[in-house]
Amino acid sequence: MKRTRATLDSDCRRLEGRGYPGYKDLRGAYDFEGFTLFIDHVQGDPFAAPSKIRVRVPMEVAGFPPELIKGRVRRLALGDFVARAIRSAIGRAPAPDGGSRSRGSGKSGSIRIDAGAQEVLERTAVQISPRDDWIEARIEVGLPAAGRRILGRQASELLCDALPRTALAGLRFGSLDADLVTAFVHCIENQEVIRRGLAERGLIAFVGNGARLPRQSGADDRPLAGEGVVPFESPAAFEVRIEVPNPIGSRVSGTGPDVWVGMGIPAGVNLIVGGGYHGKSTLLKALERCVYPHIPGDGRETVVSDRGLVKIAAEDGRRIERVDIHCFIDALPGDRNTKAFCSDDASGSTSQAAGIVEAIEAGCTGVLLDEDTCATNFMVRDARMQALVHKRYEPITPYVDHVRDLHRTLGISTVLVMGGSGDYFEAADRVIMLRDYAVLDATPEAKQIAVEKPGERRREARGSIDPPPPRVPVAQSFDASRGRSKDRKRVKIDVRTTNAIRYGECDLDLRGVAQLVDISQTRAVGLSMHWASQHLMKDGATLAGILDELDALFDQSGLGALDPFAAAEHHPGNLARPRRHEIAAAINRLRSLRME
Ligand code: ADP
Ligand code: MG
Repeated sequence: MKRTRATLDSDCRRLEGRGYPGYKDLRGAYDFEGFTLFIDHVQGDPFAAPSKIRVRVPMEVAGFPPELIKGRVRRLALGDFVARAIRSAIGRAPAPDGGSRSRGSGKSGSIRIDAGAQEVLERTAVQISPRDDWIEARIEVGLPAAGRRILGRQASELLCDALPRTALAGLRFGSLDADLVTAFVHCIENQEVIRRGLAERGLIAFVGNGARLPRQSGADDRPLAGEGVVPFESPAAFEVRIEVPNPIGSRVSGTGPDVWVGMGIPAGVNLIVGGGYHGKSTLLKALERCVYPHIPGDGRETVVSDRGLVKIAAEDGRRIERVDIHCFIDALPGDRNTKAFCSDDASGSTSQAAGIVEAIEAGCTGVLLDEDTCATNFMVRDARMQALVHKRYEPITPYVDHVRDLHRTLGISTVLVMGGSGDYFEAADRVIMLRDYAVLDATPEAKQIAVEKPGERRREARGSIDPPPPRVPVAQSFDASRGRSKDRKRVKIDVRTTNAIRYGECDLDLRGVAQLVDISQTRAVGLSMHWASQHLMKDGATLAGILDELDALFDQSGLGALDPFAAAEHHPGNLARPRRHEIAAAINRLRSLRME
């Protein structure tokens, strides 16, 4: 028999006062007027992870204009906007009984959707069907209880009214501000069009004039407001103009090309210099984050970096498994092999060297380095130190002696914040100076200084820099099971913060992975590692090959393919797509990792 809103209403009321597991009877699909409600998973008790519900609206009812769902980028942007709209509708919903939002014990009455923050990511919270015949939101709710007794009347009010009302506030074009949603989609599309065109122009990044880069605080990624903020302005010498498809703010009908003006950062070696507190790290941080598109109003929505730029920092204490760092570090005391270097407790310099080599292995196009988080001895070795400590006793060849070769032979660009040493002047293609948050071209002056005050240091690189040899991960080293021996096979991958995964029995510390920006990405990273170990790590598959396969999987089947329960009663509503670089970074930091 077809189940409808009326069935759900009476079923809920009938459960009033019964034990919590009675809710399991509600699983299934219910036809409402104009949409379908799916109850996919029912939580075991009021304190367990909430129940999973989908609201699906046929596209002709949802009424989104075809222009807004045309192409991968627009669909992604629209889905992201819809999730945000539902989240704000949840925030606006009147609390039951006029008081607290809670409808009883534990998570009773809570409604949640996994919408994004400043970045726009491919996520599973809102799905548009491949043939555009429906749009669906995946929502978590706490089914109401008093103690462990079902509150049937509240459940009915929640499932039949409150939840559909909030979901439809995002899922129907008519409920949204048409100008806002259009501008949002257009803004994201502009960024992606620029990103796709960067390489062709010989650029690795673009920073639009007028961009507002500083953030509220180190713990708050929203834009800093107020008079004191100096908007970005490119010096004439660095200025580029890029045609974008949409003038921001226009309606779909009135579209035509527009031009964004700003600073282009070319492939090669770029130095960011300037006095302390003049805005260097803020610029680098923007480049680091803007591998992802940003929402209108973020301040960085005209900043676009190449997808393959990877921020690298020194990360002493991390694990390293068979990484060939010999170009940077050779002849360690005790004759340790640096062609397949292993450490359970890396130093600042070895961790930074490994980070760079691993990023190259994963296919990065450039590295972002900030002196604030670099190991000094990895970056420079000045003339006096060369005189005091003979090269024979110094295993490190500093980055300054490889930075040009990295670009020339491997095509890896560098953007480096370096206020403390002029030894990079010779190596730099471009010197970007920050003074009172304003950007100046300091290239000619720095080059002149390099000629007039030649450094006394000698170049130390021996031989050229080679592409790192491919590594083959061992599937068995990715055991995600946890618990007593009898249910030892239970896969447990817990993610509590953006930067930490409990993977089986292993604590995986991702604090050094700066471009993991959303906890839903972290969840996807954890699942990707497990999925790869089950399906891809065989027949000598290399790490780079495995990352290719994961990207292909996400492109073809979406992130939902990762969910181990997708076929059963769960649905993956809380995943966001990580880059291959963040998946690689997590694999590389796993303490149990073994490479063949
Ligand atoms: P540096 O790395 O050069 O020492 P930071 O980038 O850390 O400097 O910036 C120092 C401070 O200045 C930060 O608090 C930052 O928020 C603020 N800031 C950076 N850029 C701007 C700007 N364009 N306008 C206003 N404040 C800024
Ligand atoms: Mg700084």
